[in-house]
Amino acid sequence: MTVVTRFAPSPTGYLHVGGARTALYSWLYAKSQGGEFVLRIEDTDIERSTQGAIDAILEGMEWLGLTWDDGPYYQTKRFDRYKSFVQQLLDEDKAYKCTCSRERLDALREQQMADGEKPKYDGKCRAGGANGATSDFVIRFKNPEQGSVVINDHIRGNIEINNSELDDLIIQRSDGVPTYNFCVVIDDWDMKISHVVRGEDHINNTPRQINILNALGAPVPEYAHVSMILGDDGKKLSKRHGAVSVMQYRDDGFLPQALLNYLVRLGWSHGDQEIFSIEEMIEHFSLDGIGQSASAFNTEKLIWLNQHYIKTMPVSEVAEYAKWHFEQQGIDTSNGPSLESVIAIQADRVKTLKELAEISRYFYEEYQEFDANAAKKHLRPVAQEALELIKTKLSELTFWTAETIHQAINATAEELEVGMGKVGMPLRVAATGSGNSPSLDVTLELLSFEQVAQRIDKALEFIANRANS
Ligand code: GLU
Repeated sequence: MTVVTRFAPSPTGYLHVGGARTALYSWLYAKSQGGEFVLRIEDTDIERSTQGAIDAILEGMEWLGLTWDDGPYYQTKRFDRYKSFVQQLLDEDKAYKCTCSRERLDALREQQMADGEKPKYDGKCRAGGANGATSDFVIRFKNPEQGSVVINDHIRGNIEINNSELDDLIIQRSDGVPTYNFCVVIDDWDMKISHVVRGEDHINNTPRQINILNALGAPVPEYAHVSMILGDDGKKLSKRHGAVSVMQYRDDGFLPQALLNYLVRLGWSHGDQEIFSIEEMIEHFSLDGIGQSASAFNTEKLIWLNQHYIKTMPVSEVAEYAKWHFEQQGIDTSNGPSLESVIAIQADRVKTLKELAEISRYFYEEYQEFDANAAKKHLRPVAQEALELIKTKLSELTFWTAETIHQAINATAEELEVGMGKVGMPLRVAATGSGNSPSLDVTLELLSFEQVAQRIDKALEFIANRANS
């Protein structure tokens, strides 16, 4: 059997982390089985679906690297197909027209609730009494009255639902539009979906969908209903808890590798391994390894993973993602050191790529002003001599390398008979504008002598102004 899985988002908003995790599990299962992954946009709710949301979902999937082998399919383009199967069920007496008015249905529901019963359509039109109707009818599926449906869920085990609990589902509305559950059934069948991996909020739909599949003589896929993601307060994850949109994580400076690694572990495990490359995820993934209980989102852990990936991924790959953040912050990296060389020395100093861009601005442009605290502490009259001497020594270098710069700093400290810090700190504040930077030799190496000299002059000017004020 060829494994075919799908991700079937409704485009009513951005791609959120819960959806992304479901998509990831579905994608991983297909990949792990040498199968295919289908993307299907469930846009039947025309009022709530928007092109903006479709674009946002596709963008999120692409950013995460969850590429699809087939699709994207759009349900709104397949209405004729759904309707032909509605007609088939009518012809086979497996569905019927229903002309029960809203008032009757409302009254029925109220009565059932007053009697302490579960509200349910009572089957008034089931015998075919309304089949001659030509307008103002819906079409209902004739759900079996006897027996039960068993879902063999990969995550939740066997779930049995008595057919007596299910009513005759509307499969086509009075405006002629087929309903959501029916479209899903036809799609899963047409797209040869072998495994449906989706959120547990759909578990109530599953027995209804299985009954329709059976009525059509279609194979029933296997199911895996993934539990919810909770916020740190144990409630369903929502905007209240912070970022929930995948693209917001990009904007905040996360690497897709880190988010994927975080999401795969949120509800799935393989021994006690925490770090997984995509290849390792594919190798070890199984639906049966997904846990049943809801998982709580832990931003600290995501940050930890992000740091790990920024530090350990090849710099050229980190650079591809970091570039966007520099652009976002208006930093022109076309003049100056290569992004790779900056990342190589800054990677272990940041939690996010956004931060990386923020603290690397001085490599590409003149800083506007000194960090006030650093300047107060290090750009004092006593630093003047050290700054003048280091400038001279740097100007005498034939080769501008970390090693020669290091020697020049050493020589300055020795000549003035002061500790390294007395030269290094004023020089650091002069060159970078702040008191925090990687080791000075490698930092200065990425700037030119001219830039460093100009910045030392600026620091000397600051000191002079300070002495005069
Ligand atoms: N369109 C549904 C949703 O976004 C998913 C349905 C399914 O996976 O069967 O929640």
